[in-house]
Amino acid sequence: MDGKTKQAGAVAGVKHIRNPINLARLVMTQSVHVMLGGSGAEEFALEQGMPLISNRYFDTDKRYNSLLKAKKKLKALSDKSVTTKDYQANYRQLPPNYKMGTVGAVAVDKFGNVAAATSTGGMTAKRYGRIGDSPVIGAGTWADNGSCAVSATGHGEYFIRYNVAADICARVQYQGKSVQQASEEVIFGPMFKAGGTGGVIVVDPQGNVALTFNTKGMYRGWRVQGQPTQVEIFAAASQK
Ligand code: ASP
Repeated sequence: MDGKTKQAGAVAGVKHIRNPINLARLVMTQSVHVMLGGSGAEEFALEQGMPLISNRYFDTDKRYNSLLKAKKKLKALSDKSVTTKDYQANYRQLPPNYKMGTVGAVAVDKFGNVAAATSTGGMTAKRYGRIGDSPVIGAGTWADNGSCAVSATGHGEYFIRYNVAADICARVQYQGKSVQQASEEVIFGPMFKAGGTGGVIVVDPQGNVALTFNTKGMYRGWRVQGQPTQVEIFAAASQK
């Protein structure tokens, strides 16, 4: 999403696109739509000269093992449960570290233009066809020069229901909150109390940055031009 023009593009349910954000950008600039899904999105990619790649390109041992581990855990939960064999109920109980793996970026240029992008494989062992928050403009991704840019990671269903990215920016815009305060209110607010785990990276047109999460850690890095890149994984002791 481009915070200057408020144009946005997204793709969901694609299986053969090497760099989905590039395709999302083409949806934004070369179509009249905001979101394309599944085979229609891939047909659009071909029309735009973007090659489809084998789905095997995305296979990694690490992720395959995460899937096996998650399935094993789901089976154990289902065997243990006398009240429910229900996949949904058991899936809800899977600890967050079984499920996450999103990559996001927010940026601001010297003119105060902000932008955000988010890419994900979704949550491990999710239902076939499930779409999370990452491509949902307002939930997992948002940018507006009048407030800030946000990219989110976490349990997407909660981020959609609490409209997390847009809510943070609305607090900045209408309540004059800092990105730090606004993101803490949302990430540790009613969504967290309802069971929603995850975090956000946020930047405003002045270059203020917030990296806020309610989990033990969130891989994150940030850089101001001319200064060294900073990288962190876990929460500061004061945040735990
Ligand atoms: N937010 C992503 C989703 O729900 C998962 C993640 O952040 O890893 O699909």
